[in-house]
Amino acid sequence: YEVHLERVVGGPGRENGVLLSFMDVKQHEEAGQMRSDFVANVSHELRTPLTALTGFIETLRGPARDDVEARDRFLGIMEAEGKRMNRLVSDLLSLSRVEDMARIRPTDSVDVLAVLQSVRNALSQTAETKGVTISIESQIEPPVQIAGDLDQLAQVFTNLIENALKYGRLGGGVSVVISRMPMMPAFKGPAICVSVKDDGPGIAEHHLSRLTERFYRVDNHRSRELGGTGLGLAIVKHIINRHRGRLRIESDEGQGSKFSVLLRDDL
Ligand code: ADP
Repeated sequence: YEVHLERVVGGPGRENGVLLSFMDVKQHEEAGQMRSDFVANVSHELRTPLTALTGFIETLRGPARDDVEARDRFLGIMEAEGKRMNRLVSDLLSLSRVEDMARIRPTDSVDVLAVLQSVRNALSQTAETKGVTISIESQIEPPVQIAGDLDQLAQVFTNLIENALKYGRLGGGVSVVISRMPMMPAFKGPAICVSVKDDGPGIAEHHLSRLTERFYRVDNHRSRELGGTGLGLAIVKHIINRHRGRLRIESDEGQGSKFSVLLRDDL
């Protein structure tokens, strides 16, 4: 607490007094700390590719100047690092956009199955390179309509399916299932559930509650190697919160992971 002591002069005919005020500054300090941690994280994430870029430029100017093979390899790495910075900046922009909009509730009517099908189309090439099949099953008679923001829900499903492709098994399967829960206690009403399941190595229990923190990664090296920014699930969480929904993560090590998005079925 911050304590302020102030003398109050009452004026003609009134008594003088003392005003003692207590201000709870803990929340304010915590918010400040989180902000500076975030800035430190972002700077670190941007510095890594920048260091690589400047390092390779120096090498290309100097020792590798006349080595055609090395030049091609280094340019390839530089391109990948540039793309990583691009992804990081666009994820940061997405995150700040959804944070800004947190108070406005999305109300468009969104066809869940159609969104999932277009996300699958957009990711079909990535799936093909990994030899992974993405199946979509609706246990509810289509159309499945919910109140939401089309672009943002597409982003949620893109991030979850991309992760399933990234961390799942090569040549494996990603299964997306739409179902209805007649009563979700937290919503005091029915819910539409979209689950994205992979058959990858899974995630150890103690990581599960932290996965949606910005820049939290189970395996830093692997995430970077696969081109991750560490922001995908933080964005997912924010968008779902905005829809007053829930994200449920279940995983058995060695058996794959399941990310379920629960949305209010109140249209
Ligand atoms: P990233 O860009 O690193 O993938 P995310 O926020 O999307 O960032 O995910 C955070 C971390 O959660 C990942 O680095 C990875 O360790 C873990 N993760 C996410 N999805 C899966 C999955 N389907 N299987 C295993 N691990 C996953």
